[in-house]
Amino acid sequence: MHYSQFFEDQISGLKSEGRYRVFTEIMRRVSHFPEAAQFTGQGIRDIVVWCSNDYLGMGQHPDVIAAMHEAIDLCGAGAGGTRNISGNNRFHVLLEQELADLHDAEAALLFTSGYTANMTTLMTLGAAIPGCIIFSDSQNHNSMIEGIRHSRAPRQIFRHNDVAHLESLLAAAPINAPKLIAFESVYSMDGDIAPIAKICDLAEKYNAMTFLDEVHAVGMYGAHGGGVSERDGQSSRLTFIQGTLAKAIGVHGGYVAGSRASIDFIRSFGQGFIFSSAMPPAVAAGARASIQYLKRHPEIRDRHQERAETLRRKLQAADLPVIITDSHIVPVLVGDATRCKKASDLLLEEHGIYIQPINYPTVPRGSERLRITPTPLHTDAQMDALVDSLQTVWAKLDLKMSA
Ligand SMILES: *Cc1c(COP(=O)(O)O)cnc(C)c1O
Repeated sequence: MHYSQFFEDQISGLKSEGRYRVFTEIMRRVSHFPEAAQFTGQGIRDIVVWCSNDYLGMGQHPDVIAAMHEAIDLCGAGAGGTRNISGNNRFHVLLEQELADLHDAEAALLFTSGYTANMTTLMTLGAAIPGCIIFSDSQNHNSMIEGIRHSRAPRQIFRHNDVAHLESLLAAAPINAPKLIAFESVYSMDGDIAPIAKICDLAEKYNAMTFLDEVHAVGMYGAHGGGVSERDGQSSRLTFIQGTLAKAIGVHGGYVAGSRASIDFIRSFGQGFIFSSAMPPAVAAGARASIQYLKRHPEIRDRHQERAETLRRKLQAADLPVIITDSHIVPVLVGDATRCKKASDLLLEEHGIYIQPINYPTVPRGSERLRITPTPLHTDAQMDALVDSLQTVWAKLDLKMSA
């Protein structure tokens, strides 16, 4: 086989479909978020970031930065090992206590990323529990899909957020078979929200465990930022709540929370946990400071929702095809991969506005979009400039306005 020819052919395929990914090189600026510098072939220029998953700007919060500096001065850079072999730092333990408290759970377990948390937990459960059937929402994130696939447990996919379909699948399964329902709270591409209470009702009725990915909700929903499960009063009904420390928390890492026994089980059998070095202590310290701040400051969540609502109204008033959701995510539909990429390029090059295009396979073909994530730090003036620029680009590319 001609190996390099193979690699090049694969890449050409992506390019001809308009799906080839080009990374935008930026440098985020402390105390100026969402402004950043972009590094181009022609030099450095100022841009406004509209697609960050640092949803609340906590990545630059003074409390978080101070906690990280302090921890580096105390402990140095890396953890020095896996949790089992010399890497179990005090800051990891404190962060797990903070996370258990956030989700009204008995225990929590840290992973090096949210991806690993999903993959390892689902893979471990599905592989270890004899005869376990996993019921998975059709729009679950790749990290859950891969975890379920690698567990080799039988998998049943229910239609997205469709409780009736989920029930029909649960009812058709052997009554005594162990069952696990895996789903998300806020789905990140459409910004819609799962009926958590109804899914918990079904889990009780059919004696199933539940696994809820709250990655796009922790820090942002609930009185203390415990996610949609906290907002809906469901935290204690879920078997596992999974989250990331890299989005609204603004730092890095992932976790699962649950009962003492279930978390001890993942800690003891999850290979993606056991065989990977612990996160740097300063990362754990920063995440803990961020969560502590977010627990005490509900007003940042109110401001976040207000900003999303204001942007939606401005886009609607300008006849731009915004998808209306109940969350902080504001998608604008383009419906074609090449033109979606082109729109994004024009916004960046001609208007200094950075919104990464979202194409297949992240979203279905025909629903390619610009996914906008306004934060509490985006101003009205920045929103007006965004709307003007979108209108200019829409006219230039002859894109569809709202129906
Ligand atoms: C980003 C994401 C993850 C992975 O979290 P990381 O900490 O970035 O690895 C898991 N689930 C969903 C739904 C996500 O969007």
